[in-house]
Amino acid sequence: MIESRSEKDSHDAVELSCPIPSSSTSVIRLGHGSGGKMSSDLIEKVFVPRLKNSILNQLDDAALLELGNYKLAMTTDSYVVSPIFFPGGNIGSLAVHGTINDLAMRGAMPLFISAAFILEEGFSIEELERIVDSMAMACSQAEVTLVAADTKVVGKGAGDKVFITTTGIGAIDTPFVPGASRAVAGDAIIVSGDIGRHGIAIMTAREDLDVETDIVSDSAPLHDLVKELLATKETIHSMRDITRGGLASVLNELACSSKVGIEIDENAIPIDPQVQAVCELLGLDPLYVACEGRFVALAPEEAVSKLLSALKCNTEGKGAKVIGKVVATHPERVVLRSSIGGNRILDKLTGEQLPRIC
Ligand code: MG
Repeated sequence: MIESRSEKDSHDAVELSCPIPSSSTSVIRLGHGSGGKMSSDLIEKVFVPRLKNSILNQLDDAALLELGNYKLAMTTDSYVVSPIFFPGGNIGSLAVHGTINDLAMRGAMPLFISAAFILEEGFSIEELERIVDSMAMACSQAEVTLVAADTKVVGKGAGDKVFITTTGIGAIDTPFVPGASRAVAGDAIIVSGDIGRHGIAIMTAREDLDVETDIVSDSAPLHDLVKELLATKETIHSMRDITRGGLASVLNELACSSKVGIEIDENAIPIDPQVQAVCELLGLDPLYVACEGRFVALAPEEAVSKLLSALKCNTEGKGAKVIGKVVATHPERVVLRSSIGGNRILDKLTGEQLPRIC
């Protein structure tokens, strides 16, 4: 069917409708998947009141399960990234890395993983094979065993090529388990490397974006890096991987869970110059752009030098830096000291900056 220009424009207008709805929306909007304020509202208003229990309510990266003398971590996540192949990875490797990383943020070493595939009718089997090969390689490199899987197929148009849901289980062997609610005033905030490369790699890989760079996603497993940190025997109060919503949203989550204030220094935040340039070109704030191989660790000031040395021994952590501190003033607020000396409140991401980033 050939559409008239005006019909096409009206269709485009529907697709481009603003993803920032009023807070009283009665339907799901793209912003509910942002990892920012709308995602938090959805979790707090729809899911937690109905499914609440003492473990789920902690809203940590992975649930802490205590079984007799054993401590396990369990997490689950869905991957809908578009495009499914991007510089530095694909939806399969991303799914494995993301699951490993949520386990690692509780100090757990990943053991087992499951994967469920929602496939769209017409999707290429050759592409599916490449994705599953990447998952197998990512599992093998991380010494994780994929022990259960499921496939479902939906009709053409009812999905988009492939969606993957993963669940992971890891073992915890550290006496003090880091948690989102455990940060205290005086903690230093360490970021494990430069931020925003995953989000910008996805953004520039999208067909309709006329920007060429050699930015590659930071997607990577973080458990080896965490193992190095735990080996220092220093206390780490909180860790969180920086994913949807970026550094600013993650710090807001930690500030709210721990009921503390956070102050960060804009000049100290590591950002690749190319990422910075693309952000400026597209009007994006890099503090809200997703990573898939970076995390923040909040730890007592006296632990910092050993933790930084441990991070810098690992390729993924060689760009680690202290970017700020936890404070007792302005609880549940994140304040950025800007490069020109002013202070700015950083809220959680509002609306959706980059849909389907992971
Ligand atoms: Mg996480």
